[in-house]
Amino acid sequence: SFQDMSKEHMMEIRRQNCNPMIMKVTYYKKPVFIHQGHMQWLWDVDGRRYLDLFAGVATVSVGHCHPKVTAAAEKQLRKLWHTTNIYVYSPLHEYVDKLAATLPEPLKVIYLTNSGSEANDLAMLMARLHTGNFDIITLRGSYHGGSPQTMGLTSNSAYKYPIAIGLGCIHLPLVKRTVHVMDVYFTTIIKHYIISTITGLCMANDKYIGQLKEVFATSVPSRIAAFFGEPIMGVGGAVQYPKNFLKDTYKLVRERGGVCIADEVQTGFGRTGSHFWGFQGHDIMPDIVTMAKGIANGFPMGAVVTTHEIAASFGRGVHFNTFGGNPVACAIASSVLDTMKEDGTQQISHEMGTYLLMGLSKIRDKYEIIGDVRGKGLQIGVEMVKDKASREPLPPAAMSEIFEDTKDMGVLIGKGGVYGQTFRIKPPMCITKDDADFFLAVFNQALNNYMEAHH
Ligand code: PMP
Repeated sequence: SFQDMSKEHMMEIRRQNCNPMIMKVTYYKKPVFIHQGHMQWLWDVDGRRYLDLFAGVATVSVGHCHPKVTAAAEKQLRKLWHTTNIYVYSPLHEYVDKLAATLPEPLKVIYLTNSGSEANDLAMLMARLHTGNFDIITLRGSYHGGSPQTMGLTSNSAYKYPIAIGLGCIHLPLVKRTVHVMDVYFTTIIKHYIISTITGLCMANDKYIGQLKEVFATSVPSRIAAFFGEPIMGVGGAVQYPKNFLKDTYKLVRERGGVCIADEVQTGFGRTGSHFWGFQGHDIMPDIVTMAKGIANGFPMGAVVTTHEIAASFGRGVHFNTFGGNPVACAIASSVLDTMKEDGTQQISHEMGTYLLMGLSKIRDKYEIIGDVRGKGLQIGVEMVKDKASREPLPPAAMSEIFEDTKDMGVLIGKGGVYGQTFRIKPPMCITKDDADFFLAVFNQALNNYMEAHH
């Protein structure tokens, strides 16, 4: 055994000293005790190897403990662990110069944070200061963070707390859902409370924009602060939008004085394959882009990128963040950008993503319980249903069974979607065709096992 501490001891500490929510949401019935990682692989404390297709939720971008990135981290750790933005130091400047080069004009001003929630908090504040407006529009099923402010943007009740003041928390019940259904949710201020709600439901692609117009007509003031949207939804379950939906949305939002914010926490850094930034696949130009997760291959870091104009509005106050721009984080993130180029991760994302989508589509046609296979690059969702006609979500117990079986056969994937009905595949961007074939065989077997046991 490789373990430093016994499994029982760790579980006891977890019970006594860890966020109790972790105990409730043990992702697997039999927990996975992770010991070590290398590229697309993880090993448990018993030396069992897993193919990691979830990558710490799309976070391990170039591979677990990628040797080049690890070397860059080690080098910086020996030189300087910490200083703040008060001083001028090269790791930060080297990094923001490199990051800015990946983004089109006018997105050139960079604020470094330590997480995606922090980045989105900052983006909200900037949008409100810049526009002088308050209301923010986000999409059904979206996840934008767990901080008090970003919880108001997140539209997934599992991540929302029922407290009255300051947080978006009220949800009207959803009527029947269908695959790809999306409606628009907004936050608005009434007196000193922010109240969020889900309005209506649209059943077809062409109704998406109509629904947004309805929200504008009925539910928000004539002037708004911002629209937040992921280019392809992550936690929401690899949800994609109809062509031009984001483009038309940006136009409507700007007509109402709002700025457009692309949350690239999951979709950035080449994950969607065709483009380095997810928004580039929608022919849009955001005013603010937020990022985290894959930015530093799993080292805690986030960023907000915006225009000089918005940065000037934000500059009316002093924003300080002790760890934002930490030299070690910057050295790692810098090396991640270099490694992405050297290893061709965006190309891998494009090729392996397409290969997986094709393989999964074949599997979808074989099984009544797969409603949809979707996504782009290595941001993939497999929507599980009771049957293809009803499109009712596959219940959690059934999801768990297939999920657990896939893990027992050596592959880690994720779950998502509003009802936990979507398997999520977002591997480190270093997987090979052999890995993809292995997963497809394992997943097919898990579905087969489930069908034999229950039908
Ligand atoms: N935005 C998106 C799209 C995310 O998926 C997440 C995390 N799941 C966040 C923001 C929040 O990031 P963090 O957990 O780093 O605060």
